[in-house]
Amino acid sequence: MLISFYGVRGSIAAPGPNTAKYGGNTSCVHVRLNSGQNLIFDAGTGIRRLGLDMVRNDEPLLLLLSHGHWDHIQGYPFFGPIYQPGRQIMICHGVEGNAVALKVLLEQMDGSNFPVHATELPSKISTIDQVERYLKDLPFETVRKDLNHPGGGHAYRIEEDGVTMAYITDNELDPPDKPQTTYDEWVEFCRDVDLLVHDAQYKEEDMPAKHGWGHSIISQVRKLAVDAQVKNLVMYHHDPERRDGELDEVAIESANYFKSNNSMIGSYIAAEGLTFDLRARQDSKVSTVDLNEF
Ligand SMILES: [Zn+2]
Ligand SMILES: [Zn+2]
Repeated sequence: MLISFYGVRGSIAAPGPNTAKYGGNTSCVHVRLNSGQNLIFDAGTGIRRLGLDMVRNDEPLLLLLSHGHWDHIQGYPFFGPIYQPGRQIMICHGVEGNAVALKVLLEQMDGSNFPVHATELPSKISTIDQVERYLKDLPFETVRKDLNHPGGGHAYRIEEDGVTMAYITDNELDPPDKPQTTYDEWVEFCRDVDLLVHDAQYKEEDMPAKHGWGHSIISQVRKLAVDAQVKNLVMYHHDPERRDGELDEVAIESANYFKSNNSMIGSYIAAEGLTFDLRARQDSKVSTVDLNEF
């Protein structure tokens, strides 16, 4: 399993000199499975860069959306494969009868917000709004969980050849109202995963002003990683105001936190170009690739 980050920012793209190190594009993660399948989590602005790589072949693509907020759909009209004749793309979001994310993803290409109409694309795009049923038929194990986020959304855990990763973005571990998924349920969902990608948008000082906005505090995410005994944690969906220097500090704080908890958890700050090679559990590698080399 190869996991590559193409967009790591939350809320809105934030390019510029203060975010150049970790990247300013919004949510998009590519997972290449051993079986050759291509999964894409979210279609934020990072998916444009991923598209440049994906158009080099004609393999089918599966796009799993967490939800339909702008920072998770806005790159879609600029995703090269949708303009490839006959390219098979499956887009998956929603439980039966509630496909809001799919609707907003496609309706942004209405000829008004964007010059090309979603119905004019030459690729073979299929959509599915019955995630649960669809995921059961995939040749790798995929489990879904409800996010604690305004408007709702989905977290996913995938497993192939004994290697597991969880993608949990836009999730508030300690929301003010009754949670869709409790903290203890998250611990079980993430238990022993090889790689946990989790929303870590806020710091303690952002609260209580942003309590209920649907994102987690970095320290809560670190605690979850320890409680669930994950192997590696990637802090993701950075606040658009979070400068590179602050994220460098978070990296140091996190390493110290895990050390003081006698934990062997590998902790990482999500960055564009960061790639995890989890193809063999005993030989997992982490590498950072300059996107210019892609
Ligand atoms: Zn978001
Ligand atoms: Zn959101």
